[in-house]
Amino acid sequence: MKTIRDYIRTIPDFPHEGILFRDVTTLFADAHGFRLAIDGMVRPWAEARIDKVVGLEARGFILGGAIAHELSTGFVPVRKQGKLPGPRLSQSYHLEYGEAVMEIHEDAIRPGERILIVDDLLATGGTCHAGVQLVQRLGGQIAGCSFIIDLPDLGGHRLLDSLGLQVSVLCS
Ligand code: 5GP
Repeated sequence: MKTIRDYIRTIPDFPHEGILFRDVTTLFADAHGFRLAIDGMVRPWAEARIDKVVGLEARGFILGGAIAHELSTGFVPVRKQGKLPGPRLSQSYHLEYGEAVMEIHEDAIRPGERILIVDDLLATGGTCHAGVQLVQRLGGQIAGCSFIIDLPDLGGHRLLDSLGLQVSVLCS
């Protein structure tokens, strides 16, 4: 029986020379692979109180929608700057080269709601940290963060641990 890792394709030199890109489109395209990913990401949180799932653009939307459906919660997108139509909060974060900005609708989360943040891959943790900050600025509580893949050498897991956040990953 194939495992999640078997469905993920590694593409060298994308998007830059020297980067080994983990391509999860091959996982999403396979019914068994996608089921393995969603079931595996839901399992650690099935008994937790989760009010909303927050997905990080873009692959976090694909996972987050399915996970929210399984957990019977709402889904909230955290998007790159300039994509959300309503009043929004912005949070900048560091990339390998330069800075980026993520945004959330300011009425998407109510104070005290418990939030599961979802993305496909954890590298430096900068993207997830921006999502965490946006949720916290709206008064939400982070129940945890869920990823398919962790690249531990890049330090994201350590960063989220240091913030006292619960993290679940399916493979590293
Ligand atoms: P971080 O902010 O943790 O350094 O990077 C994680 C973010 O970049 C996630 O939103 C993730 O989708 C994207 N990302 C970075 N590298 C890869 C990769 O090799 N494969 C995939 N699928 N996403 C990546």
